[in-house]
Amino acid sequence: MSDLHHQAVPKIIAIANQKGGVGKTTTTINLGAALAASGSRVLLVDLDPQGNASTGLGIEPDARDLTTYDLLLDDDVALDRIIQTTGDENLFIVPATVDLSSADIELLSNEKKLYLLRDALRQRAMDTYTFDYILIDCPPSLNMLTINAMVAADSVLVPLQSEFYALEGLSQLLLTVREVRQSANTDLRIEGIVLTMVDTRNNLSGHVEKDARDNLGDLVFRTRIPRNVRLSEAPSYALSVLRYDPNSKGAQAYRDLAVELLEKTTRVAA
Ligand code: ADP
Ligand code: MG
Repeated sequence: MSDLHHQAVPKIIAIANQKGGVGKTTTTINLGAALAASGSRVLLVDLDPQGNASTGLGIEPDARDLTTYDLLLDDDVALDRIIQTTGDENLFIVPATVDLSSADIELLSNEKKLYLLRDALRQRAMDTYTFDYILIDCPPSLNMLTINAMVAADSVLVPLQSEFYALEGLSQLLLTVREVRQSANTDLRIEGIVLTMVDTRNNLSGHVEKDARDNLGDLVFRTRIPRNVRLSEAPSYALSVLRYDPNSKGAQAYRDLAVELLEKTTRVAA
């Protein structure tokens, strides 16, 4: 596509929610794939020791020689040994393994602890990749890894699962964002909240959505991600949903989300 979407420096978005199973990894992979399909160059950083984003895009465990752990803690390693291609054109990934859980502990004793990911993503060698977007798939916790993501990021995108207690954890998350903004990253913004696993036949989903929109207004993306079995099947084929079933409702929703994000980004830039 055109150069319209290309940016001088990558926009870095942390995909975070301390609750597990809310759609962080699904959103990271498929929003990333949708942005890549529309012509952006996209890097995914798997920051979860569970490595689900890596597995979901087909990076086998024995192909994860160098990982996010090395990106954070090894100064000497060349980026081209850490950044891997995926089956989607323009979509790249830094994979993770369980080693990353020890990084969380090591960060506590490292004096640069808050800035490791930020420094890694802003190193000069990164420029040659000309990424437009870097999406960080955070672990289900507000630990040092997630804080590193928030310090490195321009904004935080929060997947919110359409279920009864969804909004409860959100205030804790927003508080953490505010703390990071008051200390290590004054420019950090909330990119938006994405309703995930929405079931329009279910009243509860409607209530959660109304609650979220009433309380959070424009922070909630117009696009909703429906509960769609194709989204849960795709990772076991090591494919983004855009490649696994491009005509599915799940694929369409993530394409819509990418368009909405691109619109926001260009509006801010204009
Ligand atoms: P997190 O990264 O927040 O832990 P995941 O993205 O791994 O959450 O999603 C948790 C589970 O729910 C996974 O099995 C995933 O395939 C499934 N899932 C996520 N989003 C959807 C959706 N919109 N429709 C159906 N299943 C989904
Ligand atoms: Mg995950």
